[in-house]
Amino acid sequence: MSLLKSIPKVDKLIQNKAFEHLSVSLVTPLCKEVIKQLREDILNQKVTQFQEEDLITTVLEAYDNITQPSLQTVLNATGVIVHTNLGRSLIDATLFDKVKHIATHYNNLEYDLQQGKRGERYEHISKIICQYLGCEDVLIVNNNASAVFLILNTFAQNKEVIVSRGELVEIGGSFRVPDVMAQSGAVLKEIGTTNKTHLKDYENAITSNSAMLMKVHKSNYSIEGFSSEVAIEEIIRTARTNDLIDYYDMGSGHFVDLPYGLDKDEPSVLKIMQHNPCLLSFSGDKLLGSVQAGIIVGQKKYIEALKKNQLLRMLRVDKLTLALLEESIKSLLLGKIDEIPTLKMLFTPLEVLKQRAMRIQNNIQALCQCEIKETKTVIGGGTTPNKKIPTIALSLAFKGLKPHKIEQLFRAKNVIGRIEEEQFLLDFRTLLEEELPLLETTIKAILHD
Ligand SMILES: *Cc1c(COP(=O)(O)O)cnc(C)c1O
Repeated sequence: MSLLKSIPKVDKLIQNKAFEHLSVSLVTPLCKEVIKQLREDILNQKVTQFQEEDLITTVLEAYDNITQPSLQTVLNATGVIVHTNLGRSLIDATLFDKVKHIATHYNNLEYDLQQGKRGERYEHISKIICQYLGCEDVLIVNNNASAVFLILNTFAQNKEVIVSRGELVEIGGSFRVPDVMAQSGAVLKEIGTTNKTHLKDYENAITSNSAMLMKVHKSNYSIEGFSSEVAIEEIIRTARTNDLIDYYDMGSGHFVDLPYGLDKDEPSVLKIMQHNPCLLSFSGDKLLGSVQAGIIVGQKKYIEALKKNQLLRMLRVDKLTLALLEESIKSLLLGKIDEIPTLKMLFTPLEVLKQRAMRIQNNIQALCQCEIKETKTVIGGGTTPNKKIPTIALSLAFKGLKPHKIEQLFRAKNVIGRIEEEQFLLDFRTLLEEELPLLETTIKAILHD
């Protein structure tokens, strides 16, 4: 029992010199916790002796843990451009600087400078998007999942939404079309079969309780072989003839034509807008290459109705989102693809990637086995299912280590690579040119450890 008596009091422990320059309001609960744990451990006979120094060390470690930033930068050497786990799309640094001034100062977010009265938050962005896409109106929400929910909730409560069975998808992070629909209050009317849906399936399903014909981008899977789906322009036409709303959840939306023949199956938002859909929604941070947001474009009367839904207040975006999105779209409109990292990576010629890989190879080949590989990668983020794009990677091997061991060593230094055909690869498709010196130093540090 004397051991219990020797446990220091909290008041005394926090006086320790080691805590002198630290925040008392954080040190105090940590000391309490450490002492409580120690008491339990003594009672359970897990601890039979202790030093006050050990308690101090434990508190200091916990303090560091809490005060270190948890979000850290990593080098993405996976080759997956729209990598949701690694933050999806990057924002260009100069573009971010332009926005910084807005975020750090008062601004006209909801203020009409001409009239001197309350203005509209969404107006700043709608002008430029309408200009670009030739649509009537725009609404921005938190992400595309919110867009889907808001649209279904506004137009289809207790009414039927007709969707192809082949498009009832689940997208990473628990977004399942049937579940979202149920929660929004819409009634799902599935049509067609898993592999084939025809226009007549839509037509036959229409009743007096139908509200909407909805199309969902398959995003992370594709059906090969005996399959067919109905093109969005036919859905739009059928909706119009039957006085229904057409809505396309496009998933990833892009404003420029994609390279490597991806364009054929993945038309841009601009191309779809030529058919004048009622409503179309897509993510801001997939192939658009901007910030997390859900962008809804379409006809004014429908966007007006969405703005009247109380839910919008809960899904509304911050000035930072609007400012970043405005700058990204301006860059796109002006053809400055270099200011959109997602597109810049996608469009970098293979030859340029190869030169970068060779530069690194030259500087490390005396230290390890490394080879340049022409291989393939995916864009990711549920953008272009099952489509591969060419890329250049450096395969690395040293000290007879297995690839998964090498992967761990790199991951411990915040470099995320991938394993392909029993080799550890660093893919240059997703490494920024400015990151290459850091990559090289990191490789050398790992080899010297
Ligand atoms: C990605 C995706 C979503 C979700 O978009 P977030 O911006 O991640 O919320 C919804 N629908 C489809 C078809 C998608 O591909």
